[in-house]
Amino acid sequence: MTKPHIAVVGAGIVGICSAYFLNKSGFKVTLIDRNEPGTMTSYGHACTFADYASVPVNSPELFKEIPSMLLKSDGPLAVDFFHVIKNLSWAYKFLQNCTANKVEHISSSLSNLLNNASVSYDEIFSDVNVSNYIKNEEALYLYQNVNEFLKAKKTNIIREKNGVQIRILSKKEILEMEPNLAPVFYNGQLFVGSRHTTNPQEISNKIFESFINNGGIFHKKSVKNIFPDDEVVKLNYEEATHKFDKVVVCAGAWSKVLTKTFGDNFPLDTERGYHVLFDNYNLINRPIGWSQSGFYLVQLEEGLRAAGTVEIAGLKKPENKKRTKMIEMQARKLLPQLKDVKSTWLGFRPTLPDSLPVIGQSAKYKNIFYGFGHQHIGWTLGAVTGKVINSLCNDRVPNINIEPFSPKRFY
Ligand SMILES: Cc1cc2nc3c(=O)[nH]c(=O)nc-3n(C[C@H](O)[C@H](O)[C@H](O)COP(=O)(O)OP(=O)(O)OC[C@H]3O[C@@H](n4cnc5c(N)ncnc54)[C@H](O)[C@@H]3O)c2cc1C
Repeated sequence: MTKPHIAVVGAGIVGICSAYFLNKSGFKVTLIDRNEPGTMTSYGHACTFADYASVPVNSPELFKEIPSMLLKSDGPLAVDFFHVIKNLSWAYKFLQNCTANKVEHISSSLSNLLNNASVSYDEIFSDVNVSNYIKNEEALYLYQNVNEFLKAKKTNIIREKNGVQIRILSKKEILEMEPNLAPVFYNGQLFVGSRHTTNPQEISNKIFESFINNGGIFHKKSVKNIFPDDEVVKLNYEEATHKFDKVVVCAGAWSKVLTKTFGDNFPLDTERGYHVLFDNYNLINRPIGWSQSGFYLVQLEEGLRAAGTVEIAGLKKPENKKRTKMIEMQARKLLPQLKDVKSTWLGFRPTLPDSLPVIGQSAKYKNIFYGFGHQHIGWTLGAVTGKVINSLCNDRVPNINIEPFSPKRFY
């Protein structure tokens, strides 16, 4: 019997891990991306395997905080008002998901995935050796003043309820752990047991290589259209039509463009984020988050990366130099030893208004599956999403409750 042929569209970390698990379980798998695997959002992020990050950006306090956040040029949030006006319904739905009850629901739903995130990666890592690119020094978050710390204490209650272990540290304890930091912060907290990567591109490359070595196929092409019908799904790329038994859409922030072609509409937008890469090595031991501006400092093989912040401005606008300059200045405040900037980067977090991903089978087409919308934690959730997609394509019920991620919530 010929193996069913599955196309995975999008070779970010979610698509690569999905292709990896599907191929392992015996499907013929073609992974398609218009770029090299792992080179878009999954390349430039803050590198934390953030199993602890169950609390979404949505929060009851956001209503009060947005005006002051927008007035601060060194704050975590920037907004292009023209984009927001054009996409008012996304902003409105996002704010509707800021009540205490919704935040509890989002956090506990994300925790179902996050609590299975490490173990799912470890399944891949037992087969694909990436130990050179993983460090177990736990992520630290710094608070610039007592108010910021008190806000974090409130969200810690939700995290702890979902099983996250946190250690509060004094300024003195932090300076002993990270002696190169300038003492410009109030205190901080450590996410116990967390780990990070020093080279996300190499991790994507290694998982991708394993997929190819096991018979997986890669096409570097742009998918123009998807045409599902009862028996097969047709994809248009290379100016030709290709037939598959099933298609998995993992195209990150661009997924909506594809799903629209066959009438599945999702309110997907992007939370843009930046990184600034400095020509420094061995300054810090662990990812260090900074509450004032919403980014992490992390030591990578290619230099020291300051990555994060949120900008609501859509997929098309070019890099906003004011944001990278701000990240550079704030990073230098924390680490005055920073040398020259080597490069800057803009990435596109795929975000739905309820900060939950879409993982599941299309309600309209039984041979279309989705894995996108992982907002701030897509790097962390790559492997677990791949495992769930594999269960669904095998007609098995996943061992995680995926009801909250159902595409049906938008129909
Ligand atoms: C500044 C920043 C910091 C972050 N920090 C962290 C962190 O520390 N930890 C964490 O867990 N997450 C983090 N994230 C989030 C994380 O990076 C993303 O959620 C994740 O990378 C999304 O992966 P993805 O595979 O869905 O999308 P992507 O990596 O963007 O991949 C989607 C792929 O689809 C392809 N594609 C799109 N349309 C088509 C088409 N029509 N045809 C063919 N190919 C197509 C694209 O070329 C792309 O390669 C951060 C994000 C940012 C921006």
